[in-house]
Amino acid sequence: MKMWGAQTFAGSIPVRYDARNDVVMPLAQVQYSWISSLPIAAAVFSHDHDGITQIASNQQFDMIVTGEQREVGLDMADFARRIDAIVAENRQSHFECWQSPDRVARRELEINIARFGEKQDKFLFSLVDRTAEAASRTNLRREMLSDSLTGFFNRSGFEEEVEKSIAASKAVKSSGAQYAIILIDLARFSLVNESVGALAGDELIITVARRLYSRVRRNEILGRLGGNEFALFVDLNNADEGVQAIAQRLGAALAEPCQLSGLEIQVESAIAAAVGDVASGDPTDIIRFAQIALKRAKVSKRFELYSAGGVDTSRHRFSLETDLRRALQNDELELHYQPLMDMKTGQINGFEALARWQHPKLGFISPIDFIPVAEESGLIVPLGRWALEQAARTISDWDSRAAGELPFKISVNMSAVQLLRDDVVDAVSGALKGAGICGSRMTIELTESAFVSDPDGAKRILTALKSLNTNLAMDDFGTGYSNLAYLQQLPIDVLKIDRSFIDGMLENRDKRAIVRTVLSLARALGMQTTAEGIETEATSDALKKLGCSVGQGYYYAKPLTAEAAYAFLAESRASATS
Ligand code: C2E
Ligand code: CA
Ligand code: CA
Repeated sequence: MKMWGAQTFAGSIPVRYDARNDVVMPLAQVQYSWISSLPIAAAVFSHDHDGITQIASNQQFDMIVTGEQREVGLDMADFARRIDAIVAENRQSHFECWQSPDRVARRELEINIARFGEKQDKFLFSLVDRTAEAASRTNLRREMLSDSLTGFFNRSGFEEEVEKSIAASKAVKSSGAQYAIILIDLARFSLVNESVGALAGDELIITVARRLYSRVRRNEILGRLGGNEFALFVDLNNADEGVQAIAQRLGAALAEPCQLSGLEIQVESAIAAAVGDVASGDPTDIIRFAQIALKRAKVSKRFELYSAGGVDTSRHRFSLETDLRRALQNDELELHYQPLMDMKTGQINGFEALARWQHPKLGFISPIDFIPVAEESGLIVPLGRWALEQAARTISDWDSRAAGELPFKISVNMSAVQLLRDDVVDAVSGALKGAGICGSRMTIELTESAFVSDPDGAKRILTALKSLNTNLAMDDFGTGYSNLAYLQQLPIDVLKIDRSFIDGMLENRDKRAIVRTVLSLARALGMQTTAEGIETEATSDALKKLGCSVGQGYYYAKPLTAEAAYAFLAESRASATS
């Protein structure tokens, strides 16, 4: 044990110099007075047959433990219990963190008891007040769980709160209780960021956050899960509205345009929800299901509900999954090819391969419906490999039909889930080798979501794909939250401007401004640009004038069967040479 203020003088008798009285005393006489110089609350107890006796204490100790105002609720009985335990177990010391009962304010104390003395019958009891540290620990934790811009819970905080709330209702409610996770995604947020600056982007997020907050009711939990994604948790048993009505309530918050530094911005949002059972399942699954529904909502432009507990949809999904598995085994899927036109020359630049499924009973099923099923079930791995192989084979087929290498590429879509679950570099190089074609004939289309969860991993994979000579395209650009500074570090060759900007760009000045920004930006980054969803000649002309490199859309051609696509290619080549 350390003795503060005690010194050992020459010889072997421990003594203490008492500066105030200028005397040196043998330590035996003053052995407990040293505790008065301790900077922490401390006391010495002795233990014998009679029990526990306090034989010395300092001022701090008296103040917080035994004094008049006894702030912390410890007493002799407490000490006795701890010291008894040390003696009974023949231990040397005891340490614990102790929380005072909330009298005035809760205190966090660190309790140390150390045994000392020749007979080991004395105990130094010390207390360190850790309340301030505990408070800053709590603050730090709170900071880690919240979004600094809006003060809402961030993803971890949201998940934690939701879990807490579910656990609480599990404890009080009978079976059948349900909750909903509702997600709101601000469409095209990254473009606002790019065209009006990150500061205005932040301002927009704050404005939206405030408006959402004003629509939220007691007991609902609001969070910001990502750059442009908000989430709401609602315990449905306490709610007097259905999920759809709640979604409408939130959506209405964004109906009015936002005024930002002199600009008026109409926020477009996608809203989706998933419902979970309080009694079973993991809320992170429900958040994931809501995200799957959100993907659909972005395309359908409607509210989408994914009901994991709902028998009908899950049965539907299950049978779709079973059927899709069978379709893949029996080779019932087909690739169609939509021409990509070089805007300058009017020649074919390539094709985008799009999966098609003709279900034997249900008829045509859109990839918008079956790709999410494939992603959830893991079938995206074989499906993705199938698409790569099929596209590569088509390239070599067409080349051999023309008896020479034709000047076109085929673009293949690669899902972010595939990127996570499969060795895609192996899949691509296998497809290229299998068909005996060069990587430069193929373009891989990826969406921004591929980079969100693991940017470094994605960068490594893209670099490896580039080393196979393939081209890389960023699909649906503008719908996500990409940071362009980050994009610049990636080996991306083509930016595909999402259809939602092209559609109606002639009538809408904002859309046009956004398209112009993206085009000049792509030029600055040395990337090519493809505009998706060109449906009219006027749009085609406008994009050409703005310097867009490649166009795709119904105006040129719809996705075609392999046969029709080859004929389109042959005809376009013939008309070019004639
Ligand atoms: P995407 O990659 O954005 O594909 C473009 C979609 O726009 C296609 O829809 C295409 O048919 C459609 N489109 C093209 N031009 C026009 C136009 O002028 N107007 C309109 N209204 N639409 C146009 P599709 O074929 O229904 O595919 C939907 C999505 O499904 C694709 O979006 C892609 O994300 C996914 N997908 C399709 N095939 C595959 C695949 O083999 N693998 C993966 N992972 N995803 C695929
Ligand atoms: Ca695509
Ligand atoms: Ca696209």
